[in-house]
Amino acid sequence: MARLKTRTISDKARRDLRPGFSGAIFLPDDEGYEEARTPFNTMIDLRPGVIAQCASVDDVRHALALARAEGAEVSVRGGGHSVAGMSLTDGGLVIDMRRMNTVTVDPEAMEVRVGGGTLMGAMDAATAEFGLAATGGRVSTTGVAGFALGGGSGWLERKFGLACDNLLGVDMVTADGDPIHASADSDPELFWALHGGGGNFGVATGLTFRLHRLPEFTLGLLLFRPERGPEVARAWRDVMETAPDEIGGGLIYLVAQAEPFIPEELVDTLMCAAVFTCVGDEEMLREVAGPLLRMAPDAQLVAEMPYPEAQKALDDPPGFRNYWSVEHLSSLPNEALDRFCTRAEGIIVPSPTGHILFPFGGAMGRAQTDYPVPWRFAAWGVHPLAIWENAADDDRARQWVRDVRSDMAPWATGDVYLNFTADEGRERVVAGLGEDNYRRLSAVKDRLDPDNVFHRNHNVRPSRAEPTTAAPKPRRG
Ligand SMILES: Cc1cc2nc3c(=O)[nH]c(=O)nc-3n(C[C@H](O)[C@H](O)[C@H](O)COP(=O)(O)OP(=O)(O)OC[C@H]3O[C@@H](n4cnc5c(N)ncnc54)[C@H](O)[C@@H]3O)c2cc1C
Repeated sequence: MARLKTRTISDKARRDLRPGFSGAIFLPDDEGYEEARTPFNTMIDLRPGVIAQCASVDDVRHALALARAEGAEVSVRGGGHSVAGMSLTDGGLVIDMRRMNTVTVDPEAMEVRVGGGTLMGAMDAATAEFGLAATGGRVSTTGVAGFALGGGSGWLERKFGLACDNLLGVDMVTADGDPIHASADSDPELFWALHGGGGNFGVATGLTFRLHRLPEFTLGLLLFRPERGPEVARAWRDVMETAPDEIGGGLIYLVAQAEPFIPEELVDTLMCAAVFTCVGDEEMLREVAGPLLRMAPDAQLVAEMPYPEAQKALDDPPGFRNYWSVEHLSSLPNEALDRFCTRAEGIIVPSPTGHILFPFGGAMGRAQTDYPVPWRFAAWGVHPLAIWENAADDDRARQWVRDVRSDMAPWATGDVYLNFTADEGRERVVAGLGEDNYRRLSAVKDRLDPDNVFHRNHNVRPSRAEPTTAAPKPRRG
């Protein structure tokens, strides 16, 4: 098998790509190239040599073969939401999956099959027509494949588990260009690896998920002025400690956007929001969230709505600079809450930034699986999202994210949900997947991608690329 030689792709290869390619190809001088190379995070400024927007499995195989023959770097793009910009490459070839976005719902079998470039909003809209839902995230704009292969955490997880818990099968193209299928019965070891191991093992061209009945969904957004944060945080934690699985949400410092339920004077100001999601009706949400509702929020919305609409309620706008991270926590004492609230003072306003505490637990925490998503067993997660506009604020924003992590160190479990991080180095990747899992994933990588073609991700290296561990010192005496 050829080793990767160069990172860029030659003019000849760019020409060779066109014959027989049914999707669209964008070269640096082409109209549409700038749009095609733009990811969610505007800090990322990479210029791929070719963007191959594939429309079929054959397109994927063709583009991949060509890049490999040239030794060019390959990246795989779905929704373009990797905060580290991993779905792009500087000079290499992007396998852009956005045109492979069909959604097929089978209400009898309670399954949905999506193309490898489908966005969350499209899957949610199609399944909602049948009163069904797949476990998605918390926004409508992420790619389903990148989200789910990394684990997939969202509003429904405390009731129905993570997205990867509901994954039934994946069609892939391997580094050698072979189309394969992974499921519980077909290559179960690869199927296990696809429950958190991300895009390390091939290009997912189709994914099938189990669906759940979702006749009712309610969203509650209770906004308080930031100085009330500590009392709100305590009440929210106490509610979530005993909340039923139907209730999800988060405690979020956010900048209020203009909405009918937000008083004008609060628009563009920082607010502390207790967000409740409910797999149930308004009455149920109001009962559980009662202690916070009785605290007289400064603005509030509690309403039953279709799940796809709720998924869009907190969509982050594109066009901003982003730097994110995460810590998972074993407990949430008052001191941790106070630190969380105090640190919110450093949020850059009026960018649509956020600072979130998530309740884990419920069905996701009770799962009896050994998938490489060990962070699922933490009780809480803190997810600082710096989102800002001016490059002059880059250092300040990144430092703020690091400060949030340091603040939480006394309660941190060491787990990492990698989808919520930028590129934080190998140690964090190993921590994210679990050390034993990492070795097992590395063995799958040895079999399916020994040359590490798919390395533009939270990378699991083939074992031969791993630094050799020093031999243990002989014991004295
Ligand atoms: C605004 C925003 C909100 C988010 N909210 C959530 C959330 O609520 N819950 C959550 O769990 N995560 C969330 N995330 C994180 C998100 O799930 C990850 O960044 C995920 O990787 C995004 O997938 P993508 O396809 O959009 O991104 P891309 O940047 O296109 O892809 C990221 C990586 O995924 C892999 N990949 C993508 N498509 C394929 C494919 N077809 N085959 C193989 N590999 C593929 C590749 O390795 C690629 O490098 C959010 C991110 C953003 C920016």
